Parts: sequence; C-alpha cells; structure tokens
Amino acid sequence: MKPKIAFFDFTGCEGCQLDALNLTGEELLDLLNAVDIVNFREVMTERDDDYDIAFVEGSITRESEIARLQKIRDQAKVVVALGACACIGGINCLKNHVPMEEALRTVYGKDAKYYDTIPARPANAVVTVDYYVRGCPPTPTELLKVVKALLLNKAPDIPGYPVCVECKMAGNVCVFERGMTCLGPVTRAGCNAICVTSGRFCWGCRGLIDDPNTDSEKDILQKYGLTVDQVIDKFKIYNTYAEVAK
Ligand code: SF4
Ligand code: SF4
Ligand code: SF4
Repeated sequence: MKPKIAFFDFTGCEGCQLDALNLTGEELLDLLNAVDIVNFREVMTERDDDYDIAFVEGSITRESEIARLQKIRDQAKVVVALGACACIGGINCLKNHVPMEEALRTVYGKDAKYYDTIPARPANAVVTVDYYVRGCPPTPTELLKVVKALLLNKAPDIPGYPVCVECKMAGNVCVFERGMTCLGPVTRAGCNAICVTSGRFCWGCRGLIDDPNTDSEKDILQKYGLTVDQVIDKFKIYNTYAEVAK
C-alpha cells in the first residue's frame, strides 16, 4: 500500500502548491510511483479525507482555520508545513504589527465587518509539525527531498548554516560590496542563494537559522547605512512571527 498524501491550503497565494507541480516529468513520476495523492485542490477534483501525510500550505489567520488544521492533524500521521507562510508565518504576519481591526479596515474598508481575522501564525503555533519544506516558494527539489526522507522515516538533510555559505560557493560578490543589504547571514541555506545569484539579495524567506546572531546582522545592516527602523523592516518581511512579534 502506498502512503496517501493530501495537500491543503490555508492563507497564502497557493504558489507553493503550484511550485510542487514544477517537478520535472521524471521526478513527478517517481513521486506518483511512491505515493497516492488523494486530495490536491489545485490539480484534481476528487477529495478523500483518508490520508497519511498532510502537506499544509499557508499561515493561520482565522479562527476557523485553527479548527480545520487541528482536524487535519488528527487525521494525518505526518504533517508537513509547505512554504514560508506555513513554516514561519511569512508575509501574512506583517499584519500582526497593527491591531486586527485596523488590518481589516485597511484591506476591506467599509466591508470590514463582513470578515474576521486573527494575528497570523505558522502551522506549528497551532499543531505539531513533523517536517518543513521551506521557502517562498520552496524549490521542487527540496519538496522531493523531504518526501523521500519521510517515506524512509529519516530526517531530511536541510542545511542548518546560513545562505552566505551557498552564496560564497556560488562565487557571488557579496551585495554589501555593491551597495545593497542582505539577510543571508541569518537565513537558513538550501536555496543555493538563488536571489543573490540572480542579481538581488536575500529577503530571509527560508527563515532564520537555529541560532541566528541577529544582533550582529543588525550591526552589519546599520553599518551599511540602514536606520534601526529600516533594519527592523528587513526582518519583518518574512520573520515577523519569529523575531519581531515575540
Ligand atoms: S510561502 Fe510564498 S509562495 Fe507559498 S503560499 Fe506563502 S506567499 Fe505564496
Ligand atoms: S550577498 Fe548576502 S548571502 Fe551572499 S555573502 Fe553577502 S550577505 Fe551573505
Ligand atoms: S536567497 Fe534568501 S530570499 Fe532568496 S530563496 Fe534563498 S532564503 Fe529565500
């Protein structure tokens, strides 16, 4: 019997699920040979509430989502957080910096009374999460790596070191030397520093490393000309829940 896999979306852009479909034909076939996908709203109409492994995308931003996620946790033997919103709260947590009434008013204006919202949080703030597929969106390769690991009941080999390591290995000139700033020194590697290699900088979408020296990173950012407020804004983009709102 192949394990049954289900994908569920909470609050997010659904880009993580879309990206899962970017597995190459061969990778996708390997995956489909190893598991049965029984619930995946973006690609199939069938729904089956009997599943072993639940991939959860998006952060939790409404009371009703808490109950829904708990139900999924009760059913699944394994819960995997898929993408930055689910793993670390991600950009949805930007609203946590203002009262929820203000957030509703800003987004929905006079129709705010028809909506409800709570401070955004990652999946592991509500239920136990067994595995994490990080990034905004994650790479299909990392998704496959995590699936393989959980099928083998092993811990996936996800780097604990910062993006800077992969950035140096890629031969990039540090963006600090080019007048930009970067969260690479405190952000978990695993993306091959793709944003720097593509001409940008790291926004921190894979979340902070386990023991980040955020004070040192703040010193560096300030040394290169950012004010304290601008430094905090940099961390806010993806890491509000972990670093700013606690
Ligand atoms: S992590 Fe990024 S790609 Fe995935 S749902 Fe959130 S915003 Fe979209
Ligand atoms: S560009 Fe960013 S990730 Fe690369 S070495 Fe510099 S600080 Fe680190
Ligand atoms: S370089 Fe930073 S922002 Fe870009 S994918 Fe990697 S962790 Fe995310």
